[in-house]
Amino acid sequence: MDLIYIKRMYRNRIIILVSIIIAFFMLVTFVVIGSITKVTSVSVNLEQSEFKNSDLSSNEENKIITAVVEEKEKLPKLTNKGKENISNIYKSKTKRVFLTFDDGPSKTITIPILDLLKKENIKATFFVLGSRVELYPSIVKREYEEGHFIANHGYSHMYSQIYSSVDSVLDEYNKTNKAVSKAIGVKKYNSHLFRFPGGSVGGKYSDLKKAAISRLDENNITYVDWNALTGDAEGKKDSEQQMAYLQETMGEKNSLIILMHDAGDKQVTYETLPSIINLLREKGYEFKNFYDIMK
Ligand SMILES: [Zn+2]
Repeated sequence: MDLIYIKRMYRNRIIILVSIIIAFFMLVTFVVIGSITKVTSVSVNLEQSEFKNSDLSSNEENKIITAVVEEKEKLPKLTNKGKENISNIYKSKTKRVFLTFDDGPSKTITIPILDLLKKENIKATFFVLGSRVELYPSIVKREYEEGHFIANHGYSHMYSQIYSSVDSVLDEYNKTNKAVSKAIGVKKYNSHLFRFPGGSVGGKYSDLKKAAISRLDENNITYVDWNALTGDAEGKKDSEQQMAYLQETMGEKNSLIILMHDAGDKQVTYETLPSIINLLREKGYEFKNFYDIMK
């Protein structure tokens, strides 16, 4: 062995030894860093779970998420499918009924009607007046929260006012939407559904109503009348008269849109409602509201 060979051998051994030492330190470093990270993440998780426990339980969090999703679902929409459904509303293969109440809300009648609908687990549709919504916002909020559909019946219900021009129809519609938005605490509520006071056809303002229908349509607002009624706004004074008139107007129709009123003086409407519900159930009708067809 010459000296050069010995030197080279030692140099190689030193390199190998140094490499092993470096590798060992690197391993140790990784292990240490790894465990520190683990400890940190555990403590962060703990903090988060403590936050959850102290501030907001996961159940509550889920409830909020569900509420947000439901809120979105409860905002009325009007797509082409919905328009088609509305234009075919008087047709149905199966028996279905839409209970609709106009001219409310009122303290004396709307509240007991809501109690009854809740008991019977029926979702109805309320065509509210903006001027009344401003008087009783909490009743409208309750209607909304209990799953009823809030539609638009204009603001004033004074024919000379709302039918003074096409613009006026749209103005009253928008004013009522604003009142509903404020009442239920939902930004820019729009039902997309209007019911003309006195109905969409005939009468002194027939031509104006026709023009208003086009203007509403341009603004993605549809409208609906009815095909059965109790006559509660036409002098049918007692429950018997209202029941008889309802049966006469509903005939054997499969799809019913029943007109009733929840204005303050419609005590008989409320009193007749249980019999109406019984009759419809006996005849096999399924209760619907406009959420079911406004898609
Ligand atoms: Zn009305």
